[in-house]
Amino acid sequence: MFIELKNIIKTFGQGDSKTTAVNNVSFNIDQGEVVVLLGPSGSGKTTLLNIIGGIEIADSGSIKVADHQVDKMTDKNAVEYRREHLGYIFQSYNLIPNLTVRENIEIGAYLAKKPLNIDELIDDLGLTKHANKLPMYLSGGQQQRTAIGRAVAKNPDLLLCDEPTGALDSQTSKEILVLLEKVNKKYGTTILMVTHNELISQMASRVIRLKDGEIVLDQPNENIVAAEALELWETHFIRELKGSLYQILGNTWLSLYFSSLYVA
Ligand code: ADP
Ligand code: MG
Repeated sequence: MFIELKNIIKTFGQGDSKTTAVNNVSFNIDQGEVVVLLGPSGSGKTTLLNIIGGIEIADSGSIKVADHQVDKMTDKNAVEYRREHLGYIFQSYNLIPNLTVRENIEIGAYLAKKPLNIDELIDDLGLTKHANKLPMYLSGGQQQRTAIGRAVAKNPDLLLCDEPTGALDSQTSKEILVLLEKVNKKYGTTILMVTHNELISQMASRVIRLKDGEIVLDQPNENIVAAEALELWETHFIRELKGSLYQILGNTWLSLYFSSLYVA
């Protein structure tokens, strides 16, 4: 077993304001799995991811990742654990603004024991043409690609993704998901991805569903859909809706409005 969580509990606050963010959660993940952690806002997804990432400390329970007992680590060990094993991707890209795409990615490989070849990685990310640009000159999708590059450059065993497509339109979301799938296939990286989007869970090899901090479902996915073939609802639904609205209204304001929505 690569990840082993047993009876994890995490509360915030005290007395009347006490919140149980994670309530007695146990699950295991094998190496190479793509697991989607699904649940509505406030269900404890980020807290759980941060506990696995050694950023947040659980009140009780045990957590083991590779051969590290994460719940008993000192700060120094936690830094080494994260450096050696983990890549982290967030909804916000958190790139360093005064470094280029290449430099942002190189930072991820800094001090790594077995870093990837940066040129090949930049090529895989489709960023070769943009390698010398600063983040402010990139689209949202290109920034998230760079953030993936930074997380993957050290060749981590585990990639923790917290709503990685949360700020992106559906087409760009799909490109990012295709890329994560490629990382999993090419490097065997285990991926744990948090999302509230049901449709994304179709690409997972396993889906764990959270509600109010508790697991309500933990099931292998029998019908894995390739990221490329995902029908993210926005693509389908908004396209239909746009089509109808154009037919009815057909004015330029509407097209200006919609194009403004997709400028990242
Ligand atoms: P999700 O990522 O699923 O939206 P979170 O893990 O962020 O959920 O939050 C789960 C619950 O824990 C929420 O009720 C949230 O308000 C609470 N919570 C999370 N972090 C903190 C914190 N640092 N202090 C107090 N409450 C928190
Ligand atoms: Mg969250």
